[in-house]
Amino acid sequence: MMRHCHNCKSTVRPIKRSGFCSRCLYWHTKAERLRRLIHSPAQVEKNGRGTNAASLKYRLRAAVRVLEELRWRETGRAKDCVDSYRIRSLIYALADKSRTSVDEASVAKIQDLPIRSRRVLHDIVLSMVENLPTRRPVLRRERGPLRPSLHDGGWIEWGREYWLLTSSERQELDRACLDAKLTT
Ligand SMILES: [Zn+2]
Repeated sequence: MMRHCHNCKSTVRPIKRSGFCSRCLYWHTKAERLRRLIHSPAQVEKNGRGTNAASLKYRLRAAVRVLEELRWRETGRAKDCVDSYRIRSLIYALADKSRTSVDEASVAKIQDLPIRSRRVLHDIVLSMVENLPTRRPVLRRERGPLRPSLHDGGWIEWGREYWLLTSSERQELDRACLDAKLTT
């Protein structure tokens, strides 16, 4: 049976330690390390005074978000028919990071493309997004770049969304990140 990555389910990349592919392993390891740190007795003691806890939780949320993004990308790669919104999301991400704008009328025409053309376009844009030289993977976007100052790959907006949640929603999200267990 072909082995697939525990996170993104890819069978294309070599499977490394713990059943994760070369792309996911770094983020999985990072998330696990942060979970251990947050749970460590020294950290629990610090948490009482709020020292450093917010930073650790932020970094854990980011690692979990990256793993989710990598799963999303592979889902698109595996589909027989690529939805136009997937291609749009990648184009918006690319435009954002490249500090350029998107012609919405042209992007809207993607949905008229035949299935085979969508596949080709999707794979080209995805490979460009994946090869951007960024520390964190660029996040997909649901709309084109709005503000010229935010060409950060979607991470500033992602960070802001957290603070738009209620405090109980934030706690729930943090708990989900701490408890996340990936299954095969
Ligand atoms: Zn993977």
